[in-house]
Amino acid sequence: MTTPSRSYSRRSSLARHVSLPQESWATPAAIPSALASAPKLCLNGVSSLFRNGNGGLLALDRLDFQVRSGEFVCIVGPSGCGKSTLLHLIAGLARPTSGEILLDGRPVDGPDTGRILIFQDLGLFPWLTVLQNVEFGLRMAGVSRQERRLRARAYLRLVHLAGFEDSYIHQLSGGMRQRVALARALATEPNVLLMDEPFAALDAQTRDLLHDELERIWAETGRTIVFVTHNVREAVRLADRVLLLTFRPGRVKREFAVHLPRPRRLEDVEVAAAARDILDDLRAEINKSLEAEYRDEKTHY
Ligand code: ADP
Ligand code: MG
Repeated sequence: MTTPSRSYSRRSSLARHVSLPQESWATPAAIPSALASAPKLCLNGVSSLFRNGNGGLLALDRLDFQVRSGEFVCIVGPSGCGKSTLLHLIAGLARPTSGEILLDGRPVDGPDTGRILIFQDLGLFPWLTVLQNVEFGLRMAGVSRQERRLRARAYLRLVHLAGFEDSYIHQLSGGMRQRVALARALATEPNVLLMDEPFAALDAQTRDLLHDELERIWAETGRTIVFVTHNVREAVRLADRVLLLTFRPGRVKREFAVHLPRPRRLEDVEVAAAARDILDDLRAEINKSLEAEYRDEKTHY
């Protein structure tokens, strides 16, 4: 069961604890606005079990949550709690063992260019140029050659890489590679952008810059984003809402609404205060993950 949500706003520098308003379907007046905010993404009782020799490992346990159209949701949780598994399920790269995932009310039953996942290792092709990398996804989606070129160039401009179309991936910095992956994902014009710890390996300055760019692109394109990170400050910096997952099996422990005005900075006092509050909850889950690792180690010696 999900514990009550919390909400942050700049009106008080301390975290305020409030419950999300319950949607009312009871009065006719409430119906149009309720319909307008029908969820983009809906997870109903989603579980994921990896079978192994001793009964299987339950990675995700009856996850229920919704994401609104245009919302920026961050998912945080300790290592091994099922964050990547969750994104794979939403991307349609794997099937839940039970439960269902709905996008615009329709079940997700396989990968689709409408839901694009940016992996931790980016998956860029070293033998293709920047432009060809961005065009690649469009070719897979059956977009004509001319349209591919136009769209790839437009999205490279959006991520400020217009001058690097003919470069190869090894000629780019880490931050630039991230931008190529972002342009490639955006070029297919997905409904939902799924990002798995995309900035984890970057230095602080590059990460700051990419936060700004991602936020700008999100605002300009109105995309729905589900962003996984183990960095709570990054989650508060970016998200409208932060979902905290428990350690194995992953369940939604708590959700936090972040109402701080944008753009936010990682070093803002309010961001730090909100992050501290989430971190208190996360720490308990990290301890469980460390204990599990320790147990696993002991059984191997
Ligand atoms: P996170 O991304 O939060 O670190 P993952 O989703 O990668 O966690 O993994 C959740 C759990 O499921 C881990 O214990 C991991 O070892 C296990 N797991 C992930 N993928 C597989 C797989 N393909 N087969 C078996 N176990 C897996
Ligand atoms: Mg992961």
